[in-house]
Amino acid sequence: MSAVAVEGVWKFYGDFPALRDIHLQADAGACLALIGRNGAGKTTLLRAIAGFSRPGRGKILIFGNEPRATETRRRIGFIGHGISVYDELSALENLLLYARLYGLPDPRARALEWLERTGLERVRDGLVREFSRGMRQRLAVARAFLHDPSVLLLDEPFTALDDRAIAVLQHLLRDALARGKTIVMSTHQLREALELASHVALLVRGKVAFHGPCTAEMAADPGLVYARYGEG
Ligand code: ATP
Repeated sequence: MSAVAVEGVWKFYGDFPALRDIHLQADAGACLALIGRNGAGKTTLLRAIAGFSRPGRGKILIFGNEPRATETRRRIGFIGHGISVYDELSALENLLLYARLYGLPDPRARALEWLERTGLERVRDGLVREFSRGMRQRLAVARAFLHDPSVLLLDEPFTALDDRAIAVLQHLLRDALARGKTIVMSTHQLREALELASHVALLVRGKVAFHGPCTAEMAADPGLVYARYGEG
């Protein structure tokens, strides 16, 4: 059974089809990079996979279950716009809140572990509203990983991160993949993404223009997929 299966999904905003008959799947341990120009439908697709919005037509299954099922939600970690961290709480308080929400044993130990892994332990008591974009993004990473989800859905996870933070995130993602987790990530940072990706899907105006394994050739020349299958 696929970790993530997208079967004939359409999504409309009014009359506008943002997703048009999408078929994609990712097995456990796979890393699927979703690429495409601005407005191609990447965010719309990731939000539908996460269960934040329902497709107009078609089906999305996470390990064979609906994304919105309670048990499925616990298995998903999400980074993206629209779901984030609380400004009026400290970094530690944010993670404690989520650790308790997920019912994790020893929330404090788990929160401290992820503050350390994302390099935020020194600012753990600072209010998030005073954080830089990069610090917020690192906290969003900590929050997404906190409950050890089986499926990580990441919308532009490298945005706002400096080189060192990008390296830290790549390390965390590699480690997750080695432990059999599944990653679906949208990105404009092709080089960083294709270093990790086992598979690539190119969206062009809401349709899958290419879906296949990420070859060494693609990883070496990130523009290749666009050049070959994009609109030029
Ligand atoms: P980017 O790379 O800029 O983040 P994207 O590939 O994530 O783009 P989406 O944000 O999924 O693209 O948008 C897909 C299409 O749907 C775009 O044409 C966008 O204008 C449209 N769209 C997205 N959200 C809405 C909305 N809430 N209402 C109407 N149209 C929308």
